[in-house]
Amino acid sequence: MNQPIQSDTALVLFSGGQDSTTCLAWALNRFSRVETLGFDYGQRHAIELACRERLLVGIKRLRADWAARLGESHTLEIPTLAAISETALTRDVAIAMGADGLPNTFVPGRNLVFLTFAAALAYRRGIANIVGGMCETDYSGYPDCRDETIRALQSALTLGMARPFELHTPLMWIDKAQTWKLAHELGGAGLVGLIREHSHTCYLGERGAAHDWGYGCGHCPACQVRAKGWGEYLARGG
Ligand code: ZN
Repeated sequence: MNQPIQSDTALVLFSGGQDSTTCLAWALNRFSRVETLGFDYGQRHAIELACRERLLVGIKRLRADWAARLGESHTLEIPTLAAISETALTRDVAIAMGADGLPNTFVPGRNLVFLTFAAALAYRRGIANIVGGMCETDYSGYPDCRDETIRALQSALTLGMARPFELHTPLMWIDKAQTWKLAHELGGAGLVGLIREHSHTCYLGERGAAHDWGYGCGHCPACQVRAKGWGEYLARGG
């Protein structure tokens, strides 16, 4: 059941958003076998999960070497996360800032849970590297996105599973405009176009309205961050 560990393999946390699609391209340029993992925890932007399939098809069409490296796509259901979260991502409440200084889109410890499940799956699949789109630059203050948290969790997972896992966060120190630029460096205009058209970011799960940066309500924090990043990317020369 457990496969021998292979150092040139990676598991990418792949939600179907802009960040995780860029991370997937980053991993496909570095590792010889790349698998993806998405989570279904009753989030309102469940449409993200539907976007994943279209993005995977598009990624394979972009480059033959990526198609050869791209392996299985996994989905894990963790409804428990919704059951213990009173947040605007999983309940029908308005997005607002909480008294703790964090937006109520914050699901406490979500990335700790995601990365621990990812490591357990990676263990089974013989995968040594885990890639996630956590970022300190444009983030909303989520403490489980911080580099210090990720480094500590890497140590905990390596100790707790007796496997030398490496957690990679290629977006940690760049902003959203630089994430668009990175996508262009990795996969050219084809990848940028694919991300604009098929990746999903909107917290409200809207895909009706088309903007130059993609689809979304245009008003929620996630749409605002994405629109701002796209505008800055163009202002810096694309
Ligand atoms: Zn939105």
